[in-house]
Order: sequence, then structure tokens, then C-alpha cells
Amino acid sequence: MATVQGQELCSKAQAFLDQSIIGGWVNGQPAEAADGGTFETHDPGNGEVLATIASFQQADVDAAVDSADAAFNNSGWASMPVNERSAILHRLADAVEEQLETIAQLESLDCGKILEQARGDVQNFIDTTRFFADLALNIERRTVLAVKNHEASVVRHPWGPCGFIIPWNFPFLLCGWGVAPALAAGNTVVVKPAEDTPLSTLYVARLATEIGVPDGVFNVVPGYGETAGAAVSNNPKFCRMSFTGSPEVGRLVAAASGKNLTPVKLELGGKGAAVVFDDCDLEFTADKLVEAITFHTGQVCCDATRWLIHENIYDKFVDECVVRMKSVQVGHQMNGESQMGPVVNEKQRERVLGYLEKGVAGGAEMVLEGGAASVEGCDSGHYVKPALLAGSLDNVAAVEEIFGPVAYMAPFSSEEEGIKLANNTDYGLANSVWSTDLAKCQRVAEAFESGNGWINSHNVIVHGVPYAGVKKSGMGGGVVSIETLLDYYRNISVIRPL
Ligand code: NAD
Repeated sequence: MATVQGQELCSKAQAFLDQSIIGGWVNGQPAEAADGGTFETHDPGNGEVLATIASFQQADVDAAVDSADAAFNNSGWASMPVNERSAILHRLADAVEEQLETIAQLESLDCGKILEQARGDVQNFIDTTRFFADLALNIERRTVLAVKNHEASVVRHPWGPCGFIIPWNFPFLLCGWGVAPALAAGNTVVVKPAEDTPLSTLYVARLATEIGVPDGVFNVVPGYGETAGAAVSNNPKFCRMSFTGSPEVGRLVAAASGKNLTPVKLELGGKGAAVVFDDCDLEFTADKLVEAITFHTGQVCCDATRWLIHENIYDKFVDECVVRMKSVQVGHQMNGESQMGPVVNEKQRERVLGYLEKGVAGGAEMVLEGGAASVEGCDSGHYVKPALLAGSLDNVAAVEEIFGPVAYMAPFSSEEEGIKLANNTDYGLANSVWSTDLAKCQRVAEAFESGNGWINSHNVIVHGVPYAGVKKSGMGGGVVSIETLLDYYRNISVIRPL
């Protein structure tokens, strides 16, 4: 059995990778591209090929959507009593739990995520599936409305086939956030994973079929964004479209959905701020912000990438952060000693390094020098060092999303200024406030122009609390809450004059 960095691969993970071609998953079966096309997925930690995957073109995607449409009408999934459907989703969560280590290894290898963090993402998928399976039991199919002179009710149906386009940073977790509410409400799904990270989504679709999800209910269409992704976003048979990824591609998906009049949900990028007051617990705050910016090598949409630090503690706080950032152990994601793995591919590494260069060229001070990192025995891995920049908040590195372990720091002097600077961005996903004065924290958090305001913490996502972006960070609702589930029901008002 193969080992990677001293970590023995689970036999099921190995067998999955050993297939000559891993097909997409259509109508409960593996499917190769009609033209025989394939692409390779790599381990970002050492550049090695992990597996060869079917590369879907438009006709392949259209066939998958047809299968989701047929399954919606004929498989019994949509009309099944909700408790039976929820029981099947609980079986799926149980099956994922039984194979947690297998899926975590595939996820870690595919996207360069520290293995322990990948385990957390798999657990999150399990929790999401159970959360929506249980929540769906509490949604009334028919709600009677008390109105004058009429008998009236609102009746909820699932919509039909729903499309999901997913990015590479949290492939499995985001697959769960997408499909669990849609399936719980009785819809069928077609998922397009990112070309860099298709493995975990392909794996779980197979598990879904094994545990009794009817054929055609859960389809996966691997391939490139411009082909498979565009085919998903352009297919008029979808009743709902969900895209998570960059604002640039989000616009394309929204335009295609607009042409089809398909309601679309966009979860896009971010440039979150942390507003650090002089009455914060300084060491705790430094710990948490360094943890946040190095978590998954900074490839986290809701991360705190702009650190606004009260002028009274600016120098001390920066010193504390530098010490912590310097001690972060960069290494292969499967190595138990590593605290920060690689970025997902060479393009992403160049993007991070490019922003450091552009930032400095634009006048930013390099407080902690980042740059390319090398890891022994992993010469072809895509590693970078954590970095800290400081200076004017107009700098390109303070304005644009870098998606790497780079924080940009600036001082502020009053509560009003802290809020103003935090909100001075096109993005609006998540900001945090750090202080021991909880009344001030509440005021500041409520004043953020973002979908999420976090107090003395960052990257806090809890099932039951809506998570969404505003401004350039997203539109069309959020995820992980009852509102998300309600998005996946089509309402009909039934009314009879008395
Ligand atoms: P991306 O937009 O490049 O790709 C996302 C997905 O879109 C991939 O599956 C890709 O294949 C597909 N795609 C690419 N071109 C397409 C096209 N023309 N038509 C249809 N689909 C196409 O994003 P990425 O680089 O994979 O992910 C990073 C981005 O995702 C960052 O901006 C990050 O902030 C954002 N993100 C947001 C959230 C959130 O919840 N708001 C979560 C994770 C990531």
C-alpha cells in the first residue's frame, strides 16, 4: 500500500485513484466523455499526477442534465415522503462518516489541504447533510393562511434539476453546502467540481448511489470551466443555479442564468477586514488572526485579509504577529508536522507572488517578507511563505483578493474610522471586530456592510446561521440556514373564495 509523507493511504482511496480513468457520474453510473477526452488532477504538494478524469463537453453535460430531469419526474425522489428522503440522506451522512478518512485523504491530496483540516471538511459535509435532512422534516408541505373571505394555503414543491458549480478551495464542504438542501427538498442535482479538485465530489456521488439515492438524482460532470462549467450555466433545463467562485466567472454564470431566467445564487470572493481595538486581548487576537490567514494557505473567501489595528497598539500587535507568522511550519499537506500546505497550483502561486510584487511596487512596506517557499523532497510543490504588508489601503494588495497567506495592515484611531475603513471595499463577505468591550463589538459588527460580522473570532460558520455575501461577494441568498432550504422549494398559493 502506498504511503505519502509517512501517511498510509486508505485502501479505498488507493483503489479509487488507481482507476485508469475516473468517469463522471451520470444516472447512477460512471460516464466517460463522448469524445474520450480526459484531464489529470495533481497533488499540489509535489506536482505528481493523482488521477485521470473524464473531461466533459457540452453534450456530456446535457446528457447529465437530462438524467437529472428524468430522475426528478420518474425516480420517485421528488414525490417521496419527506421522512423517507431524509432517512436516505442520513444514510449518506453515515456512509461518508464511515469513509471519513478515505475522503479526507482524497481531499487533502487533491487540493493541498492539511489532512486534519480535510477531516474537518468531511465532518462538515456530514453535519450539513444531517442538518438539512432534519430541517426538511419541519417544513410544512402545506401552510394554511388565515385570510378574510377565502380559504387559502401555500403549498411547497421541489423545483426540479438544480445546477452547482464549485471552486477548488473547499471542494467537499461546498459540495455539501450546495447539494444537501437541494436534495433534502426533493430536487435532483448536477455538480460541476473545479478541474483542480474533482476527486471528493466524484467519490461521494458513487457513495450516494450505493446507499440508495435513486439513479439520476446526484450527477457529477467533471471538466474545465469554459466547457463543462459553461455547459452547466447555459443549460435551460435547470430550475436553480448555484455558483461559488470568483466574481469574474460569477458574472458569466449570472449572465447565462439571466438569459434562461433561471434564479441564480452567487457566493463570490471577499476582502474581509479585522478591526482590532486597543482594548482587545492582544495575544489571543494575534493567535487567531495568524491562524485565520494561514488556514488553508489563505485560500479562504471569508478570510481577514485587511488588518485594521488601533494606533495605540499598532507596533506591538504587528511584532506579535510577525513572530507567529515566522513560526508557521510550511510543508506537504499529508505530513503531520505541517501547519500550512501548498497553494492549489502554479497559477495560484504566481498570483500570490505577483500581488506581493505589485503591492511593494505600489508603495506597500513588506513587514514580513513572503515569497516562494521550498519544501525538502517536494521540489515541484506550489509553496509560498506567509507575508505581511502595510501601508495605504489604496494599494492593489489591500484592494484586490489575493487568495494566499498575505495580510495587509493599516492603523486607525477611532471606532468610526475603523468601521469606515472596513466598509471601504467592493466586497462584503465577512469582517470581524476584536475588543473586550462587547457592547462596542456588537455596535461595530452590526455596522459592517457584509453578510457576516464576527466578534473576537474569524471564519465562524455555524449550521443554522445564514452565511452569505453582499456587494461584490454574492447575491441570491446564502447557505447553511433555513433560508437556504426554503430556496429549494417552489411555492404555489392555492386560494378559494368563500
Ligand atoms: P473560479 O471562478 O475560477 O472557478 C470556480 C468554478 O467555476 C470552477 O468549477 C470552474 O471550473 C468554473 N468555471 C470557470 N470558468 C467558467 C465559465 N466560463 N463558466 C462556468 N463555470 C466556470 O474560482 P476558483 O479560482 O476556483 O475559486 C476561488 C474563488 O472562489 C475566490 O474568489 C473565492 O473567494 C471564491 N469563493 C467564494 C466562497 C463563498 O462562499 N463566497 C467560497 C469559496 C470560494
